[in-house]
Amino acid sequence: MADATPLYDTYMRAPLRFERGEGAWLIAEDGSRYLDFAAGVAVNSLGHAHPHLVESLKAQADKVWHLSNLYEVPGQERLGRRLTEATFADKVFFTNSGAEALECAIKTARRYQFAKGYPGKFHVITFEGAFHGRTLATIAAGGQEKYLEGFGPKAPGFYQVPFGDIGAVREAITEETAAILIEPVQGEGGIRVVPSEFLKELRALCDEYGLLLIFDEVQTGVGRTGKLFAYEWAGVAPDIMAVAKGIGGGFPLGACLATAEAASGMVAGTHGSTYGGNPLAMAVGNAVLDVVLSEGFLEHVRDVALVLRQGLASLKDRFPDVIEDIRGEGLMLGIKAKVPSADLLKAVRAEHMLLVPAGENVLRLLPPLVISAEEAREGLARIERAAEKLSAEKKSA
Ligand SMILES: *Cc1c(COP(=O)(O)O)cnc(C)c1O
Repeated sequence: MADATPLYDTYMRAPLRFERGEGAWLIAEDGSRYLDFAAGVAVNSLGHAHPHLVESLKAQADKVWHLSNLYEVPGQERLGRRLTEATFADKVFFTNSGAEALECAIKTARRYQFAKGYPGKFHVITFEGAFHGRTLATIAAGGQEKYLEGFGPKAPGFYQVPFGDIGAVREAITEETAAILIEPVQGEGGIRVVPSEFLKELRALCDEYGLLLIFDEVQTGVGRTGKLFAYEWAGVAPDIMAVAKGIGGGFPLGACLATAEAASGMVAGTHGSTYGGNPLAMAVGNAVLDVVLSEGFLEHVRDVALVLRQGLASLKDRFPDVIEDIRGEGLMLGIKAKVPSADLLKAVRAEHMLLVPAGENVLRLLPPLVISAEEAREGLARIERAAEKLSAEKKSA
């Protein structure tokens, strides 16, 4: 088996090998340049090789990489303070990934109910089409059969209701319910934006029944939708929030944020992580915030998002046989394809541009938040050429 890969066969990888990146561009081994509107699935928020991130990482690398949480890590205090000052939260726990941030969020909610004297309240209500990660608990939370099959009994305590059905949420609440968990915009589910009104209704239900509201902002957070966090668009604050992806700008970093009340059950010894919040990760996380919190940055995201959104809308009008719908918020946009989305993905890739597949036959546009209006227009031109080709093929078929 000389040609067998040593890697698990869990991914269907595209035959592309990138050697380096510059901003919104990736350069392959053969020197060809790709416009990167995938950004490592919403991770490279500041693009590739951002000078401030590179400099911060290198400076920390010369000092100390890792300490463990046996000692105080000043970078955690600083990043934690900045995140709590910029959000609803009072407390932060640092992780290395989105799924771990969700695990912490779920444990925080259950432990809150336990500490309040309700050990039987541990159920979490989630939504069809959700994606919360690939650990045993988060596949149960996501509820997608394709991710659960063959991995033993589904972790108990997760109940799924139809997307956007407030009556179903109300009906699902029992004596055992601890929390409601939702992505303000479903990412992998197909860029489905949850209406603000629905988030408000969830907030009201949580308040009425003593439940905790958990937002999964792993993909929507840190400027992606044009606000620091997507919940700001709705004017509804959660009790607990999971963050990852964009906050590390490419370094593995996540965080679970909570109000002091919601985190009150998480006392000494209840949770931990070897790597979580290590000095290298904190140096990069703080550097990402230096940029994202700087004057005018989120305004730039909203401006360039508008260019992209309007351009996509006009492509939809011109190629209704290829593009069915445009959806999303800020620089988290989706093209619902009229052709198989894999065909459109391939055609766009042939134009040397990268997008991300999602559910509901949708392709995600998740460019670095630092793209220029010119790069947005370049992206539109490439999608246009791809759509033109597919449209011509359809007509001649
Ligand atoms: C990516 C993602 C996760 C999982 O994050 P990992 O870092 O892959 O564990 C969870 N929730 C949402 C909304 C995501 O987009």
